[in-house]
Amino acid sequence: MKYKRVIVWFRNDLRVHDHAPLFYASQKSEEVIPVYCVDPRLFGKSLLGMSKIGSHRAKFLKEAVDNLKTMLQQIGGNLVILQGNPEEVILDFALANNAEAIFYSEEVTQEETKVEQQLEKNIWKHGIRTEAYWQSTLFHIEDLPFPVSQIPEVFTQFRKECEKFSNIQKTLPRPKSINFPDLGNNFEDFPGLSTIGLKEPIAKRKSTVEFKGGEDEGIKRLQNYFWEKDQLKVYKETRNGLLGADYSSKFSPWLALGCLSPRFIYEEVKQYERERVKNQSTYWLIFELIWRDYFRFICKKNGNKVFQLRGIKNYVDNWSRNEEIFWKWANGVTGIPFVDANIREMNATGFMSNRGRQNVASFLVNDLNIDWRWGAVYFESQLIDYEVCSNWGNWMYIAGVGNDPRENRYFNILRQAENYDRRGEYIRHWIPELARIPGFDVHQPFDLSTSQLKDYGISLGSSYPQPMVMNKAWI
Ligand SMILES: Cc1cc2nc3c(=O)[nH]c(=O)nc-3n(C[C@H](O)[C@H](O)[C@H](O)COP(=O)(O)OP(=O)(O)OC[C@H]3O[C@@H](n4cnc5c(N)ncnc54)[C@H](O)[C@@H]3O)c2cc1C
Repeated sequence: MKYKRVIVWFRNDLRVHDHAPLFYASQKSEEVIPVYCVDPRLFGKSLLGMSKIGSHRAKFLKEAVDNLKTMLQQIGGNLVILQGNPEEVILDFALANNAEAIFYSEEVTQEETKVEQQLEKNIWKHGIRTEAYWQSTLFHIEDLPFPVSQIPEVFTQFRKECEKFSNIQKTLPRPKSINFPDLGNNFEDFPGLSTIGLKEPIAKRKSTVEFKGGEDEGIKRLQNYFWEKDQLKVYKETRNGLLGADYSSKFSPWLALGCLSPRFIYEEVKQYERERVKNQSTYWLIFELIWRDYFRFICKKNGNKVFQLRGIKNYVDNWSRNEEIFWKWANGVTGIPFVDANIREMNATGFMSNRGRQNVASFLVNDLNIDWRWGAVYFESQLIDYEVCSNWGNWMYIAGVGNDPRENRYFNILRQAENYDRRGEYIRHWIPELARIPGFDVHQPFDLSTSQLKDYGISLGSSYPQPMVMNKAWI
């Protein structure tokens, strides 16, 4: 039996390739209405008054939704943009337009699943059906070699068993065409940033990759990184870089909003291995995508524990909640150049490398001893690639309350700076005032009030702060 009319509710899956709800709706229904809902709660405030979505991510999201509309128009469809709580406005829209079912992609964390459950409850009494699809991971949940409740707490075990006993399903083709009903021309666009109370982001120093939201741009980035620049073959050696467009794939913002499907990336890696080269680097990109899967399944398994201070280890430390210290970290004015440079990059562009994230997170929780959840919420607000499971999973990991078999994942900031930014190029890029000091060793602990600076006749006193902590373990 075919449905007469189905709504496809787009969430963090803003693409038309490998899209289960869209694909199955196009097969199972005579007419398909794609819908995106701008949920005002996403633009609310979080801990310490931080915006849940900052300007960089909001801009990227708007671009991604706008592009989805274009992609749908290319196959005969369109995108209806609703504003309000999805569990209410989608119901009203479904009733007003005689939809028989709503197809959507399943999420795993509380805020999102609550919305799904409420929508399902609201529409059930009107005889409207729902079909929820699992997507967004490389390994489909039904293909895991264990039930979600028994997912190993150690990544390596998870990975090895998935690699041995599971298969990665093929991508679903993008529908050649969809039959979109005549609903008139009364379509709203995704609101401008000022309407949702945000300012247009102004990058204070140029980002090395132009992050523009949307499936088109995500695929373009993949073409460029894999095929034009041929960077995949050296990914494992370059992935710990800090400066430049191509030390890592930079796929994360498109993955986070579902503009790129991980299975699509996987198939491209396999094609690259057939046509160019198969080596440790090509495998390593898949290895990292398995990390991404892992955090998603861990969130599904552990529910709200991932947002709680004690984490999934149920371990409690004496965290401090000193707002002054926290904001120095968040504003990139700790006086520790390697930390400040990374934070300043994120604040200016919405992106930070994985190496940078590990270091600034470790500095906040291990050196400043601040409640790790404040850091996670700050990243949520700033990162263009914020993804709930990867973010909270990684923060738990570094705070020692997650899935880390090691007791204390401490990063020695000065040693890390020496190893990964030997010539201080990254630090000088993001803290240009340091570039004015010839020969100044940005990797050594220093006291800006000493003769070191006076020798150069430079007073940085007001433009760059003194270090807020000096940890003996660094020296
Ligand atoms: C404290 C902290 C917070 C983080 N928050 C996020 C977040 O909100 N969103 C996010 O996508 N990633 C997050 N990461 C993981 C990682 O830093 C980013 O995925 C990576 O830097 C993105 O750059 P890339 O796409 O060039 O990665 P690449 O090195 O090219 O990796 C390819 C893809 O693999 C996945 N991946 C790589 N490393 C990880 C990892 N450690 N955990 C999960 N997935 C990974 C990403 O999807 C990434 O796009 C966080 C890491 C830390 C330490």
